[in-house]
Amino acid sequence: MEAMRRKLVWLKKEKFQGWACSECAWAFNPIGPVVGQSIVEMMQRYEQQRDKEFTSHVCAEHPRATKNPR
Ligand SMILES: [Zn+2]
Repeated sequence: MEAMRRKLVWLKKEKFQGWACSECAWAFNPIGPVVGQSIVEMMQRYEQQRDKEFTSHVCAEHPRATKNPR
């Protein structure tokens, strides 16, 4: 399946910087400020949240504007 080839990629644009999917328009938006006791804990929580959302998103639900020209 197409979805198996997707990867988490670092995206850097003028208005957005962060993790995104290589196969669709999905991008990771942290929900609220990440809190933790230390910078390490914050990073771990951020990565956990990111990986969880990346794994659970469905590429078909985030079509790229350029992929389906109408
Ligand atoms: Zn995707």
